[in-house]
Amino acid sequence: MARWRLRLNIRTKLLALALMLAWLPLLGVSWFGLQSLATARATAEESTIDALRRQTENSLAERAADKAKLYNSTLDHIQQQVESVAGYANTLIAAGPPTEGGGERVWVVPGGATPRNLANYPETVARARQITPLIRTMVARNQLISLGYVAFETGGVIAFNQDIIDKLPYSFDPRDRPWYKAAKTQKGTVWADTYVDANTLQLVTTCATPLYDTEGRVIGVVGFDILLQTIQQDLLQTDIGAQGGAFLLNSDGQVLVAPQMRTDNLQWNEQFRTENLLDSDDPRLRSVVNRMVNGETGIKRLMVDQDDIYLAYAPVNYSGWSVGIIYPESAISGPAKAVGSNIATQQDDLRNQVAIILLLSLIALPVVGATLTLWLTRPLRRLQLGAQRVAAGNFSHQIAVESNDEIGDLVRSFNSMSVALGQQVDELEDNLHRLATLNEVSNRFKTIVSLPELLDMIPRSVCDDLGFDRAALYLAEGSYLRCIAASFGKGNEQQAIDFIEAANNDPVSLEGSTIEADIMRSGQAVIIDNPWEHPKIPQAKQEVAQSESYVQVPIFGHDEVIIGLLSADYQFSQREITPRDAAQLLTYASVVGLTIENTKLYNHLEQQVTQRTTELRAAMERAQEADKLKTQFLAAISHELRTPLNAIIGFSTVMLDELDGPITSMQREDLRTINQNGRVLLHLINELLDLARIEANRVEISPESFALSEVVGEVTDTVQGLIVGKPIKIHASLPSQSLRVYADRAKTRQVLLNLLSNAVKFTSEGTVAITARPMTMMAEGTQQPRTFIAIGVRDTGIGIAPEHFGEIFEEFRQVHAGRTGARGSGLGLAITRKFVELMGGQIWVESELGQGSTFTFTLPVPELGPHDPQNEAAQDDARSIMDGTHA
Ligand code: ADP
Repeated sequence: MARWRLRLNIRTKLLALALMLAWLPLLGVSWFGLQSLATARATAEESTIDALRRQTENSLAERAADKAKLYNSTLDHIQQQVESVAGYANTLIAAGPPTEGGGERVWVVPGGATPRNLANYPETVARARQITPLIRTMVARNQLISLGYVAFETGGVIAFNQDIIDKLPYSFDPRDRPWYKAAKTQKGTVWADTYVDANTLQLVTTCATPLYDTEGRVIGVVGFDILLQTIQQDLLQTDIGAQGGAFLLNSDGQVLVAPQMRTDNLQWNEQFRTENLLDSDDPRLRSVVNRMVNGETGIKRLMVDQDDIYLAYAPVNYSGWSVGIIYPESAISGPAKAVGSNIATQQDDLRNQVAIILLLSLIALPVVGATLTLWLTRPLRRLQLGAQRVAAGNFSHQIAVESNDEIGDLVRSFNSMSVALGQQVDELEDNLHRLATLNEVSNRFKTIVSLPELLDMIPRSVCDDLGFDRAALYLAEGSYLRCIAASFGKGNEQQAIDFIEAANNDPVSLEGSTIEADIMRSGQAVIIDNPWEHPKIPQAKQEVAQSESYVQVPIFGHDEVIIGLLSADYQFSQREITPRDAAQLLTYASVVGLTIENTKLYNHLEQQVTQRTTELRAAMERAQEADKLKTQFLAAISHELRTPLNAIIGFSTVMLDELDGPITSMQREDLRTINQNGRVLLHLINELLDLARIEANRVEISPESFALSEVVGEVTDTVQGLIVGKPIKIHASLPSQSLRVYADRAKTRQVLLNLLSNAVKFTSEGTVAITARPMTMMAEGTQQPRTFIAIGVRDTGIGIAPEHFGEIFEEFRQVHAGRTGARGSGLGLAITRKFVELMGGQIWVESELGQGSTFTFTLPVPELGPHDPQNEAAQDDARSIMDGTHA
């Protein structure tokens, strides 16, 4: 059953990872955003409250002023009414004694409205009754006025606008009342203090004004009672909200009206004492109340009994009162604060939620991130492991497709790639195997030098090494193709011979139209599937071969020339011949071709070499014979020559010494010439003998340790005799007389003599110097450093050009021949060099034309032996000279 898999490509996965990673900063930013929103909210709240406060302060002040104004005008109106009543009464009083004033009830003091009392004060009673109707009309018109009355000094008569006489106590005397006393003393309109009205038993205040007689004396007072309850109700109705309140203060600081004040059910004449705010403990309140009492207007924020309040105030000028409006601060800031705190709560909730999510994300993110990363990297890791296995050669390994994304696609591609790679590698290995086979065959063929053997071997190798059942080799011979060898498998040798015979009976013409001829021309390999009745195949051959199908490939020799062809089939195994088989046989054929050609060439060369070797050997033998003869001849000749020559020199010397009797000067001259030429000839013969000995390797060296100075002394003496008439000085300077060498003494002498006589010979004037110095050189034939003595012969003669440095050491070389007139054989230096080398040294020349030459040769110092004090001394000597410490 197909499993449903979510297809998410890597881009989506990475996006998810990126979103995950972006989530945290997002949350962080949100959190900080909420934080700053909280600050903004607090600021907004504060400024809103500030604005509200200012607005409220203005409106409160306005309201207080409005109220004060209202009460002022009310009081003003009432005062006018009181004063108009008083004016009217004064006019009546001035007009003379009153007439009958009707039946109005009046109160008389003392004793009350008894008939007797009434009779006692007829004038005052009549006057009161006269004014009462007017008062009644006034009171009826004004609702604020609860009671109107007039009282007279005489007898204490009082009359009211209504009948309340019965309610008055017996002792009631209007002249004791505060309003009466105030108006009387003030002699003008007054507003009396609050008290409980005898009529209504309610809190009232009285506006009173005096009445005068014609002499201007106060004879009575008119008063109107105003019910404070009315003002209180008005104040209560003031629209200042539920939390606010208004109050009235009199000029003593006493609260006249306040919302919570009890103003009814009072006892008449009850002592009415309300709170006096000037007595407050709070100095701030006292200062505000002082301002109110002084009639100022304003607004103040205060703390009263733990309440934060606003107090707005304005004066009621008529009465000396002050209206106060109280408004709690909480009523202003409360709603804003409530809204603010509501928002703050929500913000806090939100912030807490964000913080919780942030925290949860912080915990969850690594887990989710790790999972996502694993999700991404696991398939990659598997791919990597798979790749490693494939790299290790396990091409059959298939990686499981885990993720349904690009990596999955990659894995699928990788799997098919490794399969393909496996096939390729198999093929490659197969090819390698074939190549190895070819290489092996080629190596095997290289060892075969006989051409017939090689040719015979090739068809067999095609069967054994390439796996064919039968094979035949054809080579081009003139204009025909000849079957050279065939292999038909074990036990079928006769058939192979028959086949070769059949093939060669009717050889393929290279110009013909057979398949073989085609191949020889085109160089193309051909697989023949239907040889029977094939028009291009000779059927006689086919009859013998009986092949069902076979392959034929050309054989290329040097320079891509086709030299023959190879034919092979799977006659016994009946396998099909593939193009690969054909290709392999073709490669094989190219190896075979080159090998055949090389072997042919080799065989030819070998013949030549054998022939040349025989010739050379004969020549060599002849040369050796001649050389031997020459040496023998030279030895014999020199011996035969030296004997008579010595006789000539000897006898001429005897004659020159006049041992045989006196001789004439002419004879002396002739004898000297004979003697000199004889000596020169002897020298020449000696040199020739030396050379012959050297060439015959018959020179024997007998080395010994000897002091160089001895030989130098002998030789310089001899050479001295050679300087005939030339201004030449011979000068030997050896660093030490005891300087020893290890060499053949006689040969050393001969070497030195040769060099010195050359120096003298090629120098016309100057010096010939002999020097010696030790030097370290590599000994001939070994890589061991060894101490030598370098002996130099320096002259101031004609010198040698550098190009001749080499040749002067060869035999019979004379580079100055015919120029100096000096005689010589050209053998001296050749012999010298040979001797030096035989003694283990070397010789070389340094020279400049016209400046002179220096010939230097080296001789070894004696080797150190266990008991050889002389040699030790010689070594020390040489070493100390080299170190420069020699005495
Ligand atoms: P020769 O018998 O002619 O001296 P050598 O073999 O001794 O034969 O010298 C070969 C040649 O080297 C000389 O003929 C001469 O030209 C050159 N030669 C040898 N020694 C000196 C020298 N000291 N100064 C200049 N030429 C020299």
